[in-house]
Formats: sequence, structure tokens, C-alpha cells
Amino acid sequence: MGSRRKQRRLLEVAATDRTFEPRELDGEQVLEGKCIHCQRKLALRADGTPINGATLEHIVPKNHGGTDDLENLAIACARCNSEKGLRHDHKRPDDPKLREVIERLQERRSKRLRR
Ligand SMILES: [Zn+2]
Repeated sequence: MGSRRKQRRLLEVAATDRTFEPRELDGEQVLEGKCIHCQRKLALRADGTPINGATLEHIVPKNHGGTDDLENLAIACARCNSEKGLRHDHKRPDDPKLREVIERLQERRSKRLRR
């Protein structure tokens, strides 16, 4: 995904995540919500530019067939995203720990879902 497309996708994910709300930050209108993993506050500019390291998290990793569909995407801070990648993405698809992480994130994503 190119960076323009990523920014647009971040905005689309934020729009479907109830933790994300419009807010003023240093005189600028931003969307602020929480990392899907650690709940740290993350903000996006109106054009989707991440202000403090928000990244697109693939709940089912791409190398396990995870898609770019909204239901498979969440917003995570860069650190959590790369930690999950390093720890789990290389595992076999039937690895119990990987399944557990994916199920936990899917549950959290669906609880936050705003339609
Ligand atoms: Zn985080």
C-alpha cells in the first residue's frame, strides 16, 4: 500500500472504531483514539497522516492470507505492531498462540466497531 492509500485506510478504520473521536490538538482538528493492543492514545490528522506513530495493523497477518478489508484492519502504535509481527507473524497458521492473538484482536475490534 502506498502512503496516500494507507492514510485513507487509517481514516476509514478510525471511522469504524468507537475509540476514535474528533478532537482539537494544538489548535488542529484531529481524530484521536486508542491502540488496539496497548490502548495508548493515537492521533490522525484530517488527511490521515499519523501524528504519533499510528499504523495499520492486520489482525490476520498478510502472510497468513489476511486481507486489507476493514474488518481485518485495526490501528496500532508502531511498537505494538512490529512486536506482534516479530513474535507471531512467522508462526504456522495453526499455531495456538497465533490463533489466540488473532481471536483476541478480532473480539476487541468487534467490540469497538462503529457502523
Ligand atoms: Zn500500542
